[in-house]
Amino acid sequence: MKYVQAAKHGGSQTSVNRIVIHGTVSPCVRGGAKNVARYFQSPSAGGSAHYIVDPGEIVSCVREGTVAYHAPPNTGSVGIELCDPQNGSSARWRDDDHEAMLKLAADLVRQVAKRWDVPLRRLTVAELRSGKRGICGHVDISKAFGQTDHSDPGSGFPWGHFMALVLNEEAEPVKVVISDGVPQWPGRVLKVADPMLSGEDVKVWQAKLKARGWSIDVDGWYGPKSAAVAKGYQKATGLKPTGEVDKATWEMTWSWKPPQPEEPPQSGVVDAAN
Ligand SMILES: [Zn+2]
Repeated sequence: MKYVQAAKHGGSQTSVNRIVIHGTVSPCVRGGAKNVARYFQSPSAGGSAHYIVDPGEIVSCVREGTVAYHAPPNTGSVGIELCDPQNGSSARWRDDDHEAMLKLAADLVRQVAKRWDVPLRRLTVAELRSGKRGICGHVDISKAFGQTDHSDPGSGFPWGHFMALVLNEEAEPVKVVISDGVPQWPGRVLKVADPMLSGEDVKVWQAKLKARGWSIDVDGWYGPKSAAVAKGYQKATGLKPTGEVDKATWEMTWSWKPPQPEEPPQSGVVDAAN
């Protein structure tokens, strides 16, 4: 890991109670962490952090035993900056660069927590005020102690997904079995959840809906947009519009045929089936 000493920092700290997640307000790109580190190096920088993470690497700027200026009250905390522009659709947190960065950051959080014996739990504002130890965002520190008004890492930050990565608890990848050209029901309901549902089954289902002419991103993540399309499809095919892809909806995705215009009855032909 590269070390680029930040200009601004305080004295030593002998315990860590909080790991604080930040957003840099800079692009989520490889090399982004080094750029922010260079900024922290300059005497004109207003603050610092212990670590900066981008999709490709982690740069350290202040030693963990030293106070960094990231979210006051700073003593007893470790600050981790994630390279993110802090604007745009919250779906950006699910692109490949953000996902790579979240994974690096999750590993880092786990290591820092282990060194300082910090519990791997996300803290509420009330818990921060009562002195509980754990993981939080800059926004939570702002609300709990009122010494800054920063709201990073932002309302779109995928806390559920991130904490699952920190806890190493991501579900096993879902396999989709194709039989007679039809993907078989993978055995789980696709629905909006936290952490957000993702996997091959979601992607396979999205691709089929897209092929059926629905406007849907084939990104393998089941978010509100996928739920809206599911609802529309369920309505169109006479299923209960739940917005959740259960077994019946999954099967209808492949079996449904658009209604054919009725042939005009031919005179003189007796329909034996009647
Ligand atoms: Zn911040």
